[in-house]
Amino acid sequence: MDIPVSEGTVVTMDSGDAGRGPVDMSRLGHVFVVPGGRGGRGNARFATPTNRFPLLAEQGEPGLSMEARLELKLIADVGIIGRPNAGKSSLLAALTAARPRIADYPFSTLEPALGVAESDGREVVLVDIPGLIEGAHKGLGLGHEFLRHIERTRALIHVLDGDVDDPAAEYEEVRAELTMYDERLPKKPEVVVLNKADIPGVSEKLSGIRRRLDSTTVHLISAAARTGLGQMLKDIQATLDEIADALSHEVADTGRGEPEVLSPRAVDSVKVDRTGRAYVVQAGRAGRVAAMVDPSNWEAKSQLYGYLERVGVVDALVKAGMGPGGRFTLGGKEWNWE
Ligand code: GDP
Ligand code: MG
Repeated sequence: MDIPVSEGTVVTMDSGDAGRGPVDMSRLGHVFVVPGGRGGRGNARFATPTNRFPLLAEQGEPGLSMEARLELKLIADVGIIGRPNAGKSSLLAALTAARPRIADYPFSTLEPALGVAESDGREVVLVDIPGLIEGAHKGLGLGHEFLRHIERTRALIHVLDGDVDDPAAEYEEVRAELTMYDERLPKKPEVVVLNKADIPGVSEKLSGIRRRLDSTTVHLISAAARTGLGQMLKDIQATLDEIADALSHEVADTGRGEPEVLSPRAVDSVKVDRTGRAYVVQAGRAGRVAAMVDPSNWEAKSQLYGYLERVGVVDALVKAGMGPGGRFTLGGKEWNWE
């Protein structure tokens, strides 16, 4: 069964059977294969030179059951970052119908606000990520909580407050903050804007900042006076198009229509719990094999024990204190060690 999911979906499975951490389906064309039930092989499949008449036939395992959580990691195309007071909320308000809180003190925005802007008839979803300040990566201020939202965007608008002495220094501080939180964050495509161009003296800082940042594409804008916004949006749209292009090439490179397959890594850790004289074994694969063996078939059972010995279940039981004559539960059935 195919379940189509959006680009940027993270799949997490809780089941110990498929046991693995989250799978990030961040790329177009990724296919994540959830293992289905195995088994149903006849005894001929178990024949070996020393065991030509194997009685270990699979009854067909009960289908694997697992819970998979699908979480859309991407919350917006563009994250708006910058020092408190730079004008992030004002910019979001100027570009979209969102009405974030705007105030003259840091952290006036307590929740990331989302808004939809339009550029050339296309929609761009923006999110205001407030609270970046030195030490945010250590959880100072409210920054830490918000930093994680940055991962969930494709590109960034970095807003510089034009009304401070050294906007370029603040730029570096924010970048450093991002790096300390997660080294991948500063690698996100970014559009830099110098805000508050309506304030006298701000536009004069532009060329110096461009030199310091070694970039000619720092936009001069005023969120309050709504100037420079059209050009900035065009640049953002172009940046997003580039990302989409790169992604579709990547998909094409893996071969025509051949999606990249992400498989869950099987881990078969053996766990033994003991209560009194009762032992309960938890082992993904061995449990599934045991579930397929008919306990009333003596020879099949002895082959199962041989298998359990090879995969370390017997060792684990001995370590837990079990000896001959002991009973244990595995694969939903009770067995005794004869
Ligand atoms: P944030 O902390 O980055 O979200 O910043 P805000 O959007 O809350 O703005 C902080 C302060 O700067 C507020 O008093 C805004 O009115 C002011 N501000 C934002 N953009 C501009 C602008 O373009 N020009 C001027 N003069 N003030 C602005
Ligand atoms: Mg704000």
